[in-house]
Amino acid sequence: MGLIFGAFFYLKKQGRWNFPETPPLPKRWAVRPTRNGEMIIFSAVNLKELFEKERNYPWQKPQSCPSCSSCRLWGHGFVGALFDGYNQPLFLKLYRCPDCGCVIRLRPAGYFKRFQASIETIRSSIICKSTSDRWLPGISRTRQRHWFKALCKRTKAYLADTWHRGVVAGFDYLVQLGQTPVSRWI
Ligand SMILES: [Zn+2]
Repeated sequence: MGLIFGAFFYLKKQGRWNFPETPPLPKRWAVRPTRNGEMIIFSAVNLKELFEKERNYPWQKPQSCPSCSSCRLWGHGFVGALFDGYNQPLFLKLYRCPDCGCVIRLRPAGYFKRFQASIETIRSSIICKSTSDRWLPGISRTRQRHWFKALCKRTKAYLADTWHRGVVAGFDYLVQLGQTPVSRWI
């Protein structure tokens, strides 16, 4: 079983991917660099099991360093991250490559980096707002408003005037480009 899954594979598995005219997602999406030089590898993670087992969760070690391809990866501790549905941080595993110094963070597929809500939840919120002009119940309106505003801004910035397919399609397309469509960083 492969270790790495991107949002594309996640959505595809859910049968939610309906854009045959767009090219397949580049494999590199599964590994994303962060602003501080860390690499994030999106992997299949059972959050409930992670919550229960904490640091004893059976993480699957990456086969090689995504930066220099070295096969030597050392455990580098854990970092806490918040996810909706859990009232305390979950421990994400870190690895460090001794050859290039790169730090690798494993993160659950189905979640954008730095977002607590799942991609599916955010997408549902966007669909709800764009089709019924209402926010999803049970999630802070402020958060949902941030997602929607950021998506509109990003769609405009990246897809410009040629884009006439609506915000939901914009969301999916930006995901396919390897972006976090609701990120406020342009
Ligand atoms: Zn390396």
